[in-house]
Amino acid sequence: LLGTVIAVQANYYLVKLQPTLEYPSLPVTELLCTRRARLKKVGQQVMVGDHVEVEQPDWAGQRGAIAAVHPRSTQLDRPPVANADQILLVFAIAEPALDCHQLTRFLVKAELTGLQICLCLNKQDLVTAAVQTNWQQRLIQWGYQPQFISVQAQRGVDALKPHLQDRITVVSGPSGVGKSSLINTLIPAAQLRVNAVSGKLGRGRHTTRHVELFDLPQGGLLADTPGFNQPDITCTPTELANCFPEIRAQLAEHRCQFADCLHRGEPGCAVSQDWERYTDYRQILEDCETQAQAAHDSA
Ligand code: GDP
Ligand code: ZN
Repeated sequence: LLGTVIAVQANYYLVKLQPTLEYPSLPVTELLCTRRARLKKVGQQVMVGDHVEVEQPDWAGQRGAIAAVHPRSTQLDRPPVANADQILLVFAIAEPALDCHQLTRFLVKAELTGLQICLCLNKQDLVTAAVQTNWQQRLIQWGYQPQFISVQAQRGVDALKPHLQDRITVVSGPSGVGKSSLINTLIPAAQLRVNAVSGKLGRGRHTTRHVELFDLPQGGLLADTPGFNQPDITCTPTELANCFPEIRAQLAEHRCQFADCLHRGEPGCAVSQDWERYTDYRQILEDCETQAQAAHDSA
């Protein structure tokens, strides 16, 4: 039996099964599983999003045992999610006002995961077409393709759905931008599912480190993850430079003279300083260097 882990609580794993040749029609779609002793012995962790093999199905009791974990294509640690394809970064265009420094920090944090980024600007109903166009042009200059939506006015949400289809998406963004509203629109039965899962796992969903994947009606899974709100950026200066599409685009055209160039006026640098987020880049770069220095000093 094959399936995907959709919730983890202590040593219990809720696995959503997929039909296979051996099991073309399944008596139940989800089994509450434990981990086989063999997996525990080798220290094999099981995360939400993991593709697993399930043995010993007890269809009546809706129980099973995870016997193997397939290799992960990606792995996020905070929140812990395996095999995620992309991050859906949600911001509001107004209320709260779009803060481009905050947005840049969230984007950098998302870029550091190496996952694709789907940038979604909500509350489009609160601004004029001119304001929206202005943001759109700026964000395209940054290197992103923003999707403008209004959950409240039900605008743009349908256009978002194909981006989420058949993929594992992790939702991120500051509070108050409409993430919960969006998730509830995308998954009308979310609340029911929450109760069902919490019931099966015996605890509430908002316990720490609890991540859950929700089924999208058109196929695909969405990780509802609160608490990714204060993006502290910990990376090397070189990794940071790679988190700006503006820098990546320029380096695709010309290389800098020195491989470890950080693009702040070094001789032979191929990256111009004439772009909107350049000062943000320099600021975050300084933060990274301060952190690295502090870590070095305390070691
Ligand atoms: P979260 O903290 O990101 O999960 O945000 P919520 O989903 O709780 O929404 C925060 C507030 O924004 C709520 O009062 C929502 O009703 C409101 N809101 C959500 N989407 C929209 C929208 O498209 N337009 C407007 N005007 N308000 C919205
Ligand atoms: Zn350079």
